[in-house]
Order: sequence, then C-alpha cells, then structure tokens
Amino acid sequence: PEAEKIVRKLGRVPYVADPWLPVTTMGPLLVMAHHNPRAGDLWGVPPFLTLRVLITPDQYQKTRKDLVQRFGQLPIAQQNQMEGVQAPRFADMGLEGAFEWLLASYPYEPAEVTKLRGFFETQKEKHSNLGVSHFNTVQRHLGVVLQHLVSGGRTLCFSPAEAQRQTFFPLPLLERHTVYPLYIGKNAVFMFSESGDCYAFEDEWLSMGNAAVKIVPVQADPAAIRDAINRAGATFDSGGVAKLDKSTLTASVSGNESVIDILPDEMGRVNPASPNHSAEELVQWALFTSIRCRASDLHLEKFYNLARFRARMDGNMKTILTAPESMLNRFVALLKNYAGMNQSRQECQDGRFAVSVGARRVDIRVAAVPTRREFQKVIMRFLDKQDGVKRLSDFNLGQRQIDILTRVMQRDQGLVLVTGPTGSGKTTTLYALLNSVNDDGVNIQTIEDPIEYEIEGINQTQTNPHYGLDFANGLRALLRADPDIILIGESRDAETANAAVNAALTGHLVLTTLHANDSLRAVSRLMSMGVEKYLLADSLALSQAQRLVRRLCNYCKQPIQVPDDIQAMMARQGVISQPLVQPIYTAGGCQECHGTGYAGRVALMELNEISTELRDLIEEGAPMSAMRACAFKNGFFSLYQEGLMQVIAGHTSLDEIKCLAYTAA
Ligand SMILES: [Zn+2]
Repeated sequence: PEAEKIVRKLGRVPYVADPWLPVTTMGPLLVMAHHNPRAGDLWGVPPFLTLRVLITPDQYQKTRKDLVQRFGQLPIAQQNQMEGVQAPRFADMGLEGAFEWLLASYPYEPAEVTKLRGFFETQKEKHSNLGVSHFNTVQRHLGVVLQHLVSGGRTLCFSPAEAQRQTFFPLPLLERHTVYPLYIGKNAVFMFSESGDCYAFEDEWLSMGNAAVKIVPVQADPAAIRDAINRAGATFDSGGVAKLDKSTLTASVSGNESVIDILPDEMGRVNPASPNHSAEELVQWALFTSIRCRASDLHLEKFYNLARFRARMDGNMKTILTAPESMLNRFVALLKNYAGMNQSRQECQDGRFAVSVGARRVDIRVAAVPTRREFQKVIMRFLDKQDGVKRLSDFNLGQRQIDILTRVMQRDQGLVLVTGPTGSGKTTTLYALLNSVNDDGVNIQTIEDPIEYEIEGINQTQTNPHYGLDFANGLRALLRADPDIILIGESRDAETANAAVNAALTGHLVLTTLHANDSLRAVSRLMSMGVEKYLLADSLALSQAQRLVRRLCNYCKQPIQVPDDIQAMMARQGVISQPLVQPIYTAGGCQECHGTGYAGRVALMELNEISTELRDLIEEGAPMSAMRACAFKNGFFSLYQEGLMQVIAGHTSLDEIKCLAYTAA
C-alpha cells in the first residue's frame, strides 16, 4: 500500500508487460522488484529514486497478479511530470543538501514538508553536524537513503535473504574473499563484495583452472555477506529467496544493458497492418524484420500523421512499418526504456540494448533526438556481433602489408599502435588483427569502451566508470589472467600508456589505439605523454595509421588519362617506376550511388614496422625528420602513397586523398 502510494506519486502506467514491480518503500525511495536485473520499465519513476531488488520468478508472478488487480480498480496516471527529472549532483551536496533537494523537488504533500522540516530543525538544534542516524530520526530510513544518494548508490546494505542459493562457486572460496553472488546470469555474475571489486577472488577462481566469468561487483556490508555464505552452507531446505521485508534495503543493480528476447514464432503471427497489436509487439516486429533483412539502421520518426519505421537495407531506406501518430510516443518510450534512457523529450540521448533472436544476438546502439514540437526521432544502429568482424583479407591490402601484419601478430611481445581519427575504422582493424590469431592456444584479453563486437574465444571487458573500472586498472586486472595478447581500447592518458608499454615489455603482445595524425607522430605523442624513450624503443613493434576514403562507384566512375604533372608526382612519390598507361578514375554520379559518384569505403593503412635503425633513433630522441627519412629508406609507404596506389588500382579518386598530401614522402 505504501509502495502503491509512492508509485502513484512518482510514476505512470508501465509500458511493458513485465515491468519492475513496486513492492515496498524505503523512506522516500521506492523499492522495486524483478527476477531479471536487466529488466527495463520502472513505471517512469526516476531510477535514482528507486532501489531494485531481485526476487524469484514465482514471487514475481504472484506479486504481479496482486498489482494488476489493485491497479485495475484504480488506474494510475498515463503521464507523470517526475519522469525525466534528472538526479542533481548529490555527491557534492552532502546529506543536508540532499535533504533540501528532496524537500524542494520530491512530490511531498505540503503537510509532510512542514513535518519533516520541523523534525529536521529539532535535530539541528541538538547537533552541530547531522549524520546518518540523526536523519534516521527525522524519518525512518531517511539517513540511509540520503547516504545512498550522496554516495551515488554505492553504499549498500542488503538482506542476505535476497541473494540466491547457488552451487556455482565453492563456499570456502566465497568465504575467503567475503564475496557472494547476488545473481548468476548468462553473461555476467553480479557479486556482492565488501570492497567494490573482486580482483582477488577472480584471481583465485582463475588459478583453480576455471573459465573466466564476467563479474560485476556490487558493494555490500561484509557482515551481511558472511551471513549469506552461512545461510548457503546451512542445510535447511527453505527456498533461497526469502520474503521481502520492509526493513531490508537491498542492492540496486543499475547501468546494465538490457537484452530483449524476440521469439521468431511470435513475430510470425504479427500482422503489421492489423490494429490489434500492442505497441511492444509492433516495436519488436520492426526490430525483428530489420535484423532478418540485415538492415544496418532502423529509424523511428513522425511522418505526416503517422509513426513510421524505416530500415536501411543495402544503403536504401525502406519503410517497413507505419502506425497511427498516436502510437509514436509509446514506441519512443519503449525503445528508450530498452536502451536505459530517461524519458525526457527535450534532450539528445545515447544508449544501447541487445536483441536476441533465436541463437543470434545483435547489439543496438540507440540515439534519441528531439524534433519539432515535442516530437522525437529514434535512430538505431545494428552492430551484429556474429557477422561484424572482418578478416584481414576483407581489407584490400597489398601482400607487403599482409606480410607485415602477420609477422607482427606472431610476435611474443611488443606494442602495436593503431592510430587515426574517430570513424577511421580503427576498431574494425583491431578486431580483424585479433581474429587473425584467435585460436584455442592463445589467451586474448581486452579492455574496451565500448565493446563493439563480441568475438568468440576472446575475453572482453567493458570499462565501467560506475565501478571505477578504467583502462589502466582494467589492464592491471586482466594481466592476472596472464594473457598472450591484450587489446587496450584506447591509451588516452599517461597512466594507461605507461601500463601498456610495461605490459608490452613483459611478455605480452599489446594492441592499443591512439589519437595521432600518422604513424610517426604516434611515437612522439607517446613520448609527450611521458613514456620513456628507451622503454618505447624497446617495446614498439608496429605503428599503424589509417583513414577511410570513399570508394568510387563501379557503375559510373569516369576513366581519365593521367596528365604529365600527375605522372611526375607519382614517380616522385615512388608509386610508379614507369609512366602509367592505364587510366585512373574520377567520380561520376548515377542512380546506384544516388548521384554522389561513390559507394562504400576503402581503408588506407600506413604500416611502420619498427626497424633496428628506427629503434635507435627513437631511443636517441631523434627529430621527426630523421625518423621519417629512416622509415622511407626502409620501404615505408605513407598514407598519401597508399592512397595513390588505391587511385592507380581504380578504387578511389585523387580528390579523395588530397587531404593526406601532408604525409607524402
Ligand atoms: Zn554511380
């Protein structure tokens, strides 16, 4: 009843059939329960005003039935202005500041505000500095709640009763590290831990010869963890999950990507032209259809008086579903829920979720943008984790380039730098490199942000600022698994760069990306980040730079004879040894390429395999010009030269590579 009161105040009707269920309250917070920690809909209640707990599927169904009955008699509002309320920076506010925020922004009744303020003033008169217990006197649990808000949801105590019974991890191991699994899912284990990390536990788990598991640490009170372990060890055979008790506060698990299960059989029964389907069925049908047709994008937008889903298939946008305009907001809300966004209509937001269709899992990146008059547009980009990874042979590389890459990837240790601006396809290259050596005998670990594709056989970790997991300490953690090959998504600070170099000097092949204009500037960039010259000289195996340029449309590219001045320039650049007799091409424009003259992209890669001479120059701190001269002497080709070779091969035009001339020989 208390929960019902609060959810009516804070929430609106749930948009999905299996939302989190309001079960109890904790001061001003609403405790919501579900059997799946990745579930979506919170009834529009701002996530920071909820605590989420896990219950068994049976309990879930029972509670849900009760709620349906109660809300059936007295329906709840369709909209709530609390939805979209953003959490202020509680961390900077302190307990009192957080309390003041609640008084001002939480939908308390005026009488409640007066009462709370009264109790607060009384406490303030008695004590100079108000702590958690003083606020608990103002209102039951209020102090704990304020502490929870101020700490960003990281201080948690929980009732061990809620942790599920498990036989997956041996109890003595859990006991030694004072950790206990809150939830063991298909892709991750949510683990209660006293310290907020589980490195030592993981370490021992792996050393016992077990397969790596992805652990999401959840901080909890050590006494409660020990209690959970004891309960698990006891022989009584009551169910592992006890009844929710009003006095217990349990862990909130948030920030996790949700996975939407779509059943192909069910989708087969959806008739998109029929008005009898729910918003959720239609949204899932649109996702399902896009995935089945291998679309790359799906857009949801208003079109005249319709809500329209358009999918991009082979480059063309096709309308796959239309519905009355009145459905638009429901569609948008559902997709935002899937993607873990808030429901504010005024801001641009990014998020992601995954869809599983049969055995297939597709990751979807979502952007929501406001359009005219309170309408919103949602753009989804499909990242197919099974088909997305390219092979080295998919790039149009020359034999010379393939030889260099193969040689480098066979090394026992060393540093491989992949550089280029955002959108130059660095990630695609890295995955292709990893995939080229990915087999049973090789231990490959990554730390990435974000994980764009999942590759079978590779242990991938996502950075997570919420748990303080960044590239540098993620790398430390994964070194414990003694990998042969490590991918560090990006070396964006001195700490990460130095850690990468150290790993590359101690028996690991380390791949990482760097923002730099070309492969030689990457070297000086690392030194300016504070990496010692002699360490870099010893570790660096390959510095690579790449760009994507547009590929000429094969249907309409125009042959031109190469004029003399271009011939001379090409000869000077060393890409031709005698005058070119065949034509090169320039952009045309036809229906196939929508009049642009280009279709698809070509990757240009400059590969600088570090020779002994170059190593000496790096160690001496020689100027860039000396390093360049040395590289060219050893058969290095710049981005511009690589571009010219693609022009000669007829793949792109001189116009496309003009901007790379600064890297010329
Ligand atoms: Zn064309």
